Amino acid sequence: MKKLADKTSLKVLNRLERYISAGSIKAGDAWDVFSRPDKALEAKVKELKINALELESLKKLKVLVKDKLKSRISGRCAYCKRVMGQHGMSWHIEHIKGKTLNPQFIFDMENLTFACIDCNYTKSSSVDKPNLSHEIINPNSKAFQYSKHIKFIHIATENLHYLRYSPISTEGTATYTKLAFKRLELIELVTSLNPVIRDIATRIDTRVDDLDESDDSLKEFMMALKDAIT
Ligand SMILES: [Zn+2]
Repeated sequence: MKKLADKTSLKVLNRLERYISAGSIKAGDAWDVFSRPDKALEAKVKELKINALELESLKKLKVLVKDKLKSRISGRCAYCKRVMGQHGMSWHIEHIKGKTLNPQFIFDMENLTFACIDCNYTKSSSVDKPNLSHEIINPNSKAFQYSKHIKFIHIATENLHYLRYSPISTEGTATYTKLAFKRLELIELVTSLNPVIRDIATRIDTRVDDLDESDDSLKEFMMALKDAIT
């Protein structure tokens, strides 16, 4: 990521890394400075505060990073392969090795990809935890081919979306289970059949998107709400 940064944003990234190493800020909060620079302008914690020049520089960097990552995954979530942008599915920059346990890779492009809000949330709550091994697929690993791990069929008509996954490797099976793909199969079907539910699910996704890194319990509640309605 630093290769894409100009002098100003590079200084911010280096500064944040130093603060993480020193233990004065958490990796998740440092990431928020990059992902939500508008908020960082008003940050109360001095280590997380940026100035107007840095704001503009971080915004430009964010666009460059997103473009680069998008080009790698052909507009689909790196894990579930659903098309990004459909049914309000927003683009989430995803840390393959989770931020909290692997803060040294927080700004490393090789550790970044794009994931849909469902995979992003489920992974952070069921994979990126201490003492859990990271045994799911790594979309950035060398010579990675999705089809060697998971086959999927996705048929979409105007009123019906049918989605089914068949894991065919150990990592594929772990991905299917840990990222709750069964749930995605159900969400896809139910939201395609019922526009009202689809609308509510999309609004929940949008609200979850707006929450800060620290609002874990509210995120958990809202995603459970989405499960309940689908
Ligand atoms: Zn996904």
